[in-house]
Amino acid sequence: MMERLLNFFFPRGAECLVCGDPRRADERYCLCPDCRRELLSLRLRENVCIRCMHPLDGKGLCPFCRAGRLEPMTAGYGAFRYAGAARTLVHLLKYGYQDEAAAALAAVMAQCFPENRYDALVPVPLHRARQRMRGANQSAVLCGLIGQRTGLPTLDALTRTRKTNEQAKIKGAGARQRNVRGAFAAHGEISGLRLLLVDDVRTTGATARACAETLLAAGAKDVGILTAAIAQEHTR
Ligand SMILES: [Zn+2]
Ligand SMILES: [Zn+2]
Repeated sequence: MMERLLNFFFPRGAECLVCGDPRRADERYCLCPDCRRELLSLRLRENVCIRCMHPLDGKGLCPFCRAGRLEPMTAGYGAFRYAGAARTLVHLLKYGYQDEAAAALAAVMAQCFPENRYDALVPVPLHRARQRMRGANQSAVLCGLIGQRTGLPTLDALTRTRKTNEQAKIKGAGARQRNVRGAFAAHGEISGLRLLLVDDVRTTGATARACAETLLAAGAKDVGILTAAIAQEHTR
C-alpha cells in the first residue's frame, strides 16, 4: 500500500523537490525519504469531517459544516493538511510551476473522491491578467492530471468577470466572501451536470462557494470541491 502510494513520485534528478537536499534524494523519486514520509503523514484520511474532510477531533461533521457553511456545495474533498511538505508542494505548483509538484498532488487528489459521483471537473479560474502573469492556471493543470487518472473530462465552465484580490492576502471569512462575491460567470452547457470544482487550497471556502453558486444558478445539478490541501483556518 505504502509502495503503491509512493509510486506517484516521478523519476527526477538527484534533488529533493521539497527540501532541495541533493545528497539524500534517490534516482526514482523527486522527494527524499524524509519529505516523502512527512507528506504521507499529512494525508487526510482518518479523523476528518464526513462531509468536507476537514481535520477533526472525533467523528461526524466539523463546526463549519454544522453551521451550513459548505453550502451550496454538497461535499468537500482534500488530499493533504496544508502544512509542511504539502504546503511546499502547493507553493511550488502555484508560484513556481513545477510539473513534478502538480503530478505528486494530483496523484493523491485523484484517489480521494468517488469518481462516479461526478460528470466533470471544473477548474477555479484565474483572472486573465493573473493567468498571463503566472503563465498557467494551477487548477486547470491539476484538472488535466486528475482527468488522466480518473477519465473525468475537464469543463472550462467558469470565468472571472472581475479582478479580485488574492484570497491568501485577505484576513477573515467575511472579507474573503465579499472579495469573490459575484466575481464569476458560467458558460457552456452545464445543465443537469454533477460538477467537481478543483483548486489548490481550501481555507474559508469562500471562492469555492462563489463558484458553486454561479454553476448552480446556470443549471448544474450538484457541485462539490476538491483541493490539494485543506487549511485549518477554515473553521474560524
Ligand atoms: Zn526532502
Ligand atoms: Zn466539514
